Amino acid sequence: MSFTIRELTQAFQQLGIRDMPVIAHASYKSFGGVDGGPQTVVDAMLASFASVIMPTHTYKTMVTPQVGPRHNGIDYERWYPHSLNAEFYDPDMPSDPLMGIIPETLRRQTGAKRSSHPILSFSGVCADDILATQTLDNPLAPIRKLVELDGWVVLMGVNHTVNTSIHCAEKMTGRKQFLRWALTKDGIIACPGFPGCSAGFDDLAPDVEIFTRKVRAGNATIRAVPLRGLFAVVFERLKRDPKDLVCGDIGCERCNEIRYL
Ligand SMILES: [Zn+2]
Repeated sequence: MSFTIRELTQAFQQLGIRDMPVIAHASYKSFGGVDGGPQTVVDAMLASFASVIMPTHTYKTMVTPQVGPRHNGIDYERWYPHSLNAEFYDPDMPSDPLMGIIPETLRRQTGAKRSSHPILSFSGVCADDILATQTLDNPLAPIRKLVELDGWVVLMGVNHTVNTSIHCAEKMTGRKQFLRWALTKDGIIACPGFPGCSAGFDDLAPDVEIFTRKVRAGNATIRAVPLRGLFAVVFERLKRDPKDLVCGDIGCERCNEIRYL
């Protein structure tokens, strides 16, 4: 049986964060069927929260030079040939399929705006001031702005490995960021402040459990986590161990820059 907008809106209301600004991450498939498709999820979010942003990153624009700075979490020889498949950044290009169908639906929503980063853009509705904080040098600034506004992160059928906000918190602790490059109509642009790997982030789920709010919607679990609480947990864990929250893959190029500091 399919889930309706009424049921979904009720589920969001049960989170008790009505009229708060949120950053959302979602797996559409996790719901197991929604009447009206992904648009229903977007409509329910817009009816329930003050502002909604989602990552609409465009990894297809990424290019890798043959040589570059050392300790940059990238094997230049390995990635350089992939540059041949890069696409020129365009503000209207779809978000990467990795992001899922819901961010792309939000991006195409009437009234939605998209921030300007050629790789790490966010799209949102009623979030112009949040999106406007992003710069080429500070791609995660919209999340910092959400923290100032007492915002929340909403995870729909996904875990903390897709929780972009953790990247913002780890950056604030001084954790290493990387340099990447994007193909644009103005040439190849250097994009500093590129975050590390997020595959190890779900390890902090038990630490944020105490202030995480949960509801069921269809087959999905929706979790809402206050950004200030989440940031405090990341700060504490990285203070205790600056190599914490890396992934378990011993071949991970970015995690190894942190693991072997
Ligand atoms: Zn990793």
